Amino acid sequence: MTDIDVLVLGAGAAGLMCAIEAGKRGLSVLVIDHAKRPAEKIRISGGGRCNFTNLHTTPANFLSQNPRFCVSALKRYTPQHFLKLVEAHRIPWHEKTLGQLFCDNAAMDIIHMLLREAEAAGVKLWMETSFTAVSKPDDRFSVATSRGALRTRALVVATGGPSIPKMGATGIGYEIAKQFGLAVVPPRPALVPLTFSDDNKILCTKLAGVSVDAVVSFGKTRFREGLLFTHRGLSGPSVLQISSYWREGQPITVDLLPQADVFAALKAGKTSHGKQDVRTALAGLLPKRLAEELSAAHGFGGRLADQPDKVLQKTGSAINSWQLLPAGTEGYRTAEVTLGGVDTTALSSRSMEANDVPGLHFIGEVVDVTGHLGGFNFQWAWASGHAAGQAVLG
Ligand SMILES: Cc1cc2nc3c(=O)[nH]c(=O)nc-3n(C[C@H](O)[C@H](O)[C@H](O)COP(=O)(O)OP(=O)(O)OC[C@H]3O[C@@H](n4cnc5c(N)ncnc54)[C@H](O)[C@@H]3O)c2cc1C
Repeated sequence: MTDIDVLVLGAGAAGLMCAIEAGKRGLSVLVIDHAKRPAEKIRISGGGRCNFTNLHTTPANFLSQNPRFCVSALKRYTPQHFLKLVEAHRIPWHEKTLGQLFCDNAAMDIIHMLLREAEAAGVKLWMETSFTAVSKPDDRFSVATSRGALRTRALVVATGGPSIPKMGATGIGYEIAKQFGLAVVPPRPALVPLTFSDDNKILCTKLAGVSVDAVVSFGKTRFREGLLFTHRGLSGPSVLQISSYWREGQPITVDLLPQADVFAALKAGKTSHGKQDVRTALAGLLPKRLAEELSAAHGFGGRLADQPDKVLQKTGSAINSWQLLPAGTEGYRTAEVTLGGVDTTALSSRSMEANDVPGLHFIGEVVDVTGHLGGFNFQWAWASGHAAGQAVLG
């Protein structure tokens, strides 16, 4: 029976950060993970370049039933702290857009950095190690693993969410939470493409590959970023962002040309280029394929001069405030994150420890804190991992 101070379940972003901080404090730390290699999600993140943080991180960039829960950890471990670590390891980086920081070379740079830090802090890492049962028979936790039984004074659950199951993602963290009496906010796929089953699916399929700058809204929430038509529906940053807010059975609104008032432009065209066809006018405003397919789908056409204002208004609305009813999402198969998770009301925002189970901590994506697209989810993983690593057994 191996006896340790801190056992971390999950060698992802949050688990490794926690292990490093706890190890630096002189605690004996073991990280176990059933995957072949650590931090696989870091490896594939940001298109292989890992959008490792966002300079403009604020609590407003996170969704949670308790929006204040993330404040303390984010305040104590900021994007600048992580950037300092990246620079100390001489990892070249750049700001892509909107405060999003990426590696110049590869996401592996971040993984190597974390593994070097973990080694320096004396952290042990067991990969390809599964665990079957967790219990707390006395003041310690017992964990049955494929490498034998472990006894630990503190247990940190950093197993992430079930997004991308083919990479080894599971919802085991929720099971552990429930076992110890903690509530779990129902998880759902987030930052995920939206799918359609009506005529819009046919339209999206025809337009697959076309992308535009768009404003996508759901209720009062709106994002202006890229939108991409796919064979199944809609994707691209603006759609992924809104997917975290969207709820089944409700429509989203898309402005395919936020920089222009299409009705006003067509009305002006009616006077200045009356002989011009509506489709030609639209092709001057939108990508040609998009203008053609929208015109075909909605039956737009004919000389501008012949169009009553009412018709032009309808045409403008179809482009500036296109209402669509998604049938669903692509699900966990492609979702970048999982919304919901361990209910924060049962956790300390300072240490991520369960209020009623001393020594049990939850960090990273398994917790009901989910970031917007743009490096915020890693910043939460670093900040929550850091908070737990600093406080565990303190
Ligand atoms: C394609 C993709 C791209 C992304 N890009 C970005 C990005 O650029 N920027 C950003 O901020 N966020 C990005 N994210 C989100 C980000 O990867 C996650 O939010 C982050 O990895 C969560 O960290 P974590 O440590 O909580 O969980 P994870 O990184 O998921 O780590 C959990 C670990 O637990 C292990 N585990 C799970 N179940 C078990 C089990 N039963 N037994 C043993 N081990 C287990 C897993 O193998 C894994 O190693 C992306 C996600 C995806 C899927």
